[in-house]
Amino acid sequence: MNRLDKKQLLVFLLLCLPFFGWAQNPARYNYVVELDTAKHYLNVELTYNPKDTKELILKMPVWAPGYYLIMDFPKHLTDFAVQTIDGKEIAWRKEGKNAWIIPNTNGQTLKVTYRIYANARSVADSRVESHTAFIAPNGVFMYAEGEKNEPIEVTYILPENWQNASSGLKVKGNANGKHRTFIANDFDILYDSPVLLGNHLVKKFIHEGHEYEFALETPEGFEESPFEDDFRKMVTASSQMMGHVPYDNYCLIHLGRGPGGLEHSNSQACYTSGTFRFPNQKSYLNYMAFTTHEYFHLYNVKAIRPIELGPFDYDKEVHTPTLWIGEGFTVYYETQLLLRAGIIDKEYLLTDLSGYIRDTETTEGHRHMSLRQSSYDIWLNFFNRAANGNDVRISYYIKGPVMGLLFDIRLRELTQGKKSLDDLMRLLYNRYYLKENRGFTEEEFWTSAKEIAGAPLPLLRKYVDTTAEIDYDKMLAPAGLRLNKSTWKLETIPSMSSLQEKIHTDMFGK
Ligand SMILES: [Zn+2]
Repeated sequence: MNRLDKKQLLVFLLLCLPFFGWAQNPARYNYVVELDTAKHYLNVELTYNPKDTKELILKMPVWAPGYYLIMDFPKHLTDFAVQTIDGKEIAWRKEGKNAWIIPNTNGQTLKVTYRIYANARSVADSRVESHTAFIAPNGVFMYAEGEKNEPIEVTYILPENWQNASSGLKVKGNANGKHRTFIANDFDILYDSPVLLGNHLVKKFIHEGHEYEFALETPEGFEESPFEDDFRKMVTASSQMMGHVPYDNYCLIHLGRGPGGLEHSNSQACYTSGTFRFPNQKSYLNYMAFTTHEYFHLYNVKAIRPIELGPFDYDKEVHTPTLWIGEGFTVYYETQLLLRAGIIDKEYLLTDLSGYIRDTETTEGHRHMSLRQSSYDIWLNFFNRAANGNDVRISYYIKGPVMGLLFDIRLRELTQGKKSLDDLMRLLYNRYYLKENRGFTEEEFWTSAKEIAGAPLPLLRKYVDTTAEIDYDKMLAPAGLRLNKSTWKLETIPSMSSLQEKIHTDMFGK
């Protein structure tokens, strides 16, 4: 950060003071981040006022929620220093891989500075380039231990000629100047809110009373594509299903060519194929399913969530036996929502589901690992490319949607077509998220499912908790389906009872 920028920032911050009510809700943490675009660094300065004089422990997460892998973010950190506000050096020491101890603060306001190397293409890593910067906050910002639930302000100083700063976070002050300030009520929100800076395309719109921002790093072909229309239809299908929208604003950050997407409570960050000009309709629909997946996660895994997943322990792995619900049911709902939105047809949906059944049944690992175990051990296997993987493991991304289908059918069968998996999702959302503001335990999930079904679900539980082979004939028939085991295709039973007919039509359309 050069001296001129600092002076300008101070004037800017002082000018903002009377307008934005700092007196009512002052941030405990004030971050200023400058970009070194030539060398791919984020230069970070934290101004922090300790509550008392005792030892201060600053911490940086070692992982990012949704990305179930120890990332060891502090490995990208260099040049850590602590000073008083008038420039006097203060002693500190490192403890473990992600804690910085300042033994004696004397209660003085501290200025903490460090640099983060940001040069990786993944949705959990920051990337600073000549034309753009993607900020993955877990690897950038530190919190004081015991004070994670305090307000934070982050001001980015944009390089010359950069225009845009996009995030799901609330903006404070001038939304157009060189300094862009975002605010978060606590670190769970800050860490859940990636930021895109640069000259990316920004498209803002209101849909059903909520604000949306598309931030597109590589927008080629966007204007001619049906993406925005289809996204709106999918959002409507989701809110109709859940009966509630839990955000004021939603930011869709789609990055250039690269791997993976990550869900957030009111945003998503996805690497893409780098263009909206798709070679064929199927690849467009795959892209729609991908963005739908990350979107629907705001309900399922962010709001409806295993109890272990939020508030978060950022220091170590957080094992949960029920991630198959968060991931597997979200995959199941990709095509359900696109069907309800009128974007895909019944044939596309059945082909998609057939693929998950085929992949489950032809992966030897399904005989050796249960879905429950697959959830629990994801920390060992997230990027485990060992050659024997398919022989011994099953992914919740493939067996999970199969169980979504079987749950949906069984709940409809047991309630004579009156209830479905939608009802279970709504119950979990309303009871544990809206009413109790917490995640659910494994037993609470099964009790809730039993409540919707009006009967226990021992067979479904067996298929989740063990490696027992699924009896597809028995499980699929109530929806008027059968599995052709030579082609792995789902086929429609020619003559159905009226209940089968109803369930089939309710699930897949005519
Ligand atoms: Zn997912």
